[in-house]
Amino acid sequence: MERPTLRVSAFEIPTSAPESDGTFAWDSTVLVTVEIERSGTTGFGYTYADASTAHFVADHLASIALAADPMSPPSTYAAMERAVRNLGREGVAATAISAVDAALWDLKAKVSRLPLVTLLGARRASVDAYGSGGFTSYSSSELARQMSEWKSAGFSRVKMKIGKNEDTAARVRVAREALGRDVELFVDANGAYDANEALAIADAIAHEDVSWFEEPVTSDDLDGLRYVRERAPKGMRIAAGEYGYRARYFDRMLSAGAVDTLQADATRCGITGFLVASSLCDPRGVPLSAHCAPSLHTHVACAAASVVHVEHFHDHDRIERMLLDGASIPKDGKLVPDLGAPGMGLTLKRADAERFKILDKRISHEGARQ
Ligand SMILES: [Mg+2]
Repeated sequence: MERPTLRVSAFEIPTSAPESDGTFAWDSTVLVTVEIERSGTTGFGYTYADASTAHFVADHLASIALAADPMSPPSTYAAMERAVRNLGREGVAATAISAVDAALWDLKAKVSRLPLVTLLGARRASVDAYGSGGFTSYSSSELARQMSEWKSAGFSRVKMKIGKNEDTAARVRVAREALGRDVELFVDANGAYDANEALAIADAIAHEDVSWFEEPVTSDDLDGLRYVRERAPKGMRIAAGEYGYRARYFDRMLSAGAVDTLQADATRCGITGFLVASSLCDPRGVPLSAHCAPSLHTHVACAAASVVHVEHFHDHDRIERMLLDGASIPKDGKLVPDLGAPGMGLTLKRADAERFKILDKRISHEGARQ
């Protein structure tokens, strides 16, 4: 029998223009892919992180993944968690674990000859997507154009970024005028405000029917999130959770009463952790929204109990269309898992990705690298 192999690669893709939100600016995105091949079947997973995540997979996780029972991704997830104890479980380690975890779920589904959603147990045939971008670096006309395009594409919800150093209320008005009244408008401050500033902004934009205020304060401040949530205008949901790297983070956020809708990102908590997040939301009646990486979330979002929608983030949509065969492309604002292919139905277009490559390592069962 052929020895199993793990290939980890990193690709740095420039953004179409410099982008920023309330607390961060960037001009490229790094896609880290993991392919685990066993007996001629290849499981594919990915995360959005940095080259250090790819090194971490090669140095600390590959030997565990290659020795793993391919039918038990959660046990391998637990083994990877134990292995990184002294290195720190969150951040780089978590994104590395997540890419491997996704590849192992994809592999299990392919070995089982089932779409991942069927393997997990489908709860819905499709999941709503919402358009997400509206960067603070956009001019008013760029913002209006993106909002109009999403409305025309059939999205019933869209999200824009807001931050401190701008006329936030005016920008929100531009977005609302472009959308009309039939499309829900979300805003995301990425933790730019303190609680009192956030409440002032919430009041200033409430008449534009803003129905979602994401990270009004930093997600590290659960008391602050709860404070804003308890005082926010009627109909404005408070959301957070994108930095949840492990299940207990979600439990703490929910137990603190910090959010109306929890967010989770399988590129950070793994598909295994995403399913746990859903299980924590379910008995509390809290909706769960998938953060970014739409192609990675389509299957799990149609299987997890509490999911209400998936974030169709501009940068990731662009990269996934460009570099992944089988990328999730919304139809009438919905993502539909491909039931005609096993696993997640995703394949890296390696020839197209080659020009963005910053790292590529192949590891065999013995740990010998090429
Ligand atoms: Mg966010």
